[in-house]
Amino acid sequence: MHLPLTEEVRNSALIKGLITHHELVLDNSTFITLDSCNAQGIMGAILKKMPTNNSIHLDFGSCVHSALEEKFRGGGVVDQITAAKNDPSWDAIPGGNHFAKTQDKVIEIIQAYHVHTEVTPDFDLLSFKGEPLVEQSFRLPLGKIKLSMASPYLRELFGFDMHETDEFVTIQVYWQGKIDLFTRYNNENWITDHKTTSIMGAKFADTFVRSSQMVGYLWAGMELIKLGFNELTLPNGKVVDLSAHPYRGVLINAIAIRKSGLEFKVFPIPIPYTRLEEWREGTLLRLRYFVEQLSEFMVTGLVAPTREHCVTKYGRCPFFDVCEAPMHMRGKMLNSPLFNTSTWSPLD
Ligand code: SF4
Repeated sequence: MHLPLTEEVRNSALIKGLITHHELVLDNSTFITLDSCNAQGIMGAILKKMPTNNSIHLDFGSCVHSALEEKFRGGGVVDQITAAKNDPSWDAIPGGNHFAKTQDKVIEIIQAYHVHTEVTPDFDLLSFKGEPLVEQSFRLPLGKIKLSMASPYLRELFGFDMHETDEFVTIQVYWQGKIDLFTRYNNENWITDHKTTSIMGAKFADTFVRSSQMVGYLWAGMELIKLGFNELTLPNGKVVDLSAHPYRGVLINAIAIRKSGLEFKVFPIPIPYTRLEEWREGTLLRLRYFVEQLSEFMVTGLVAPTREHCVTKYGRCPFFDVCEAPMHMRGKMLNSPLFNTSTWSPLD
């Protein structure tokens, strides 16, 4: 499939970092986008395009998330509601109070969850040097990928001429993200992630067991321990030594919005440590394939779409209309008011 976007891709931050500094910086959502479909990787992960009409689920989750951040930093209910209203997604959520995801429903969740944690706290929040570990950003070296300059496309991308003899270019890959909370639950230590959902149960938890997001969080938590993030403190002042008792896995702090009412529940997801190295190696390998495909795209303008991801049980891919349009219209459509360029960063 042709995507007439090579010039824009050449000017993107990702390509500039790759060619100038020989580095790739990725967060999980960028990786999932480029892993899902080659065309989606170029439009979503590299050009950072996203539909102007964002998904209501994302907007709703973002506002609840802002309120939870305020709560775990010590804010009261009024502060939490203010934090939700100050979230950039607030105005995109409809008003009214019915079952659907509305602004009133966000406020109802904030109030109900506050009461829930007062009566039945699910976990203890850990602190580092007196600071509660809430929304902790990280950028960590994931590893290196070696690109063989035997490929004419890669030689072209990296500006090699025929007389240069280097066989490989080595790219340093960094993994970045933001961990919601570091917690103690059932006498074990957990990386904790908030999720809003309309389903909850074994099937809900199962979706996270192998997810790149959760394994990546645990990998990051373990790396942070090695970097000295190991002596954490419980609310009662007791010190927890993570070097001796590392994180067991990821604890999903689920907030379910159902017709029958709100439900709050945590799902511990233990992750075997053997999976961490496999995830790291697999991610680096996938990135190498992606850069190789990208270098070919930069010369030919051709991408290999994964058509199974165009329409899934969650709906249409955000770039469906672009890919369906005639080739010469695709660039215009992507640069029309139908799409924004995302400036989100987990380090903000
Ligand atoms: S519509 Fe299909 S081909 Fe186009 S980006 Fe989405 S998944 Fe890929």
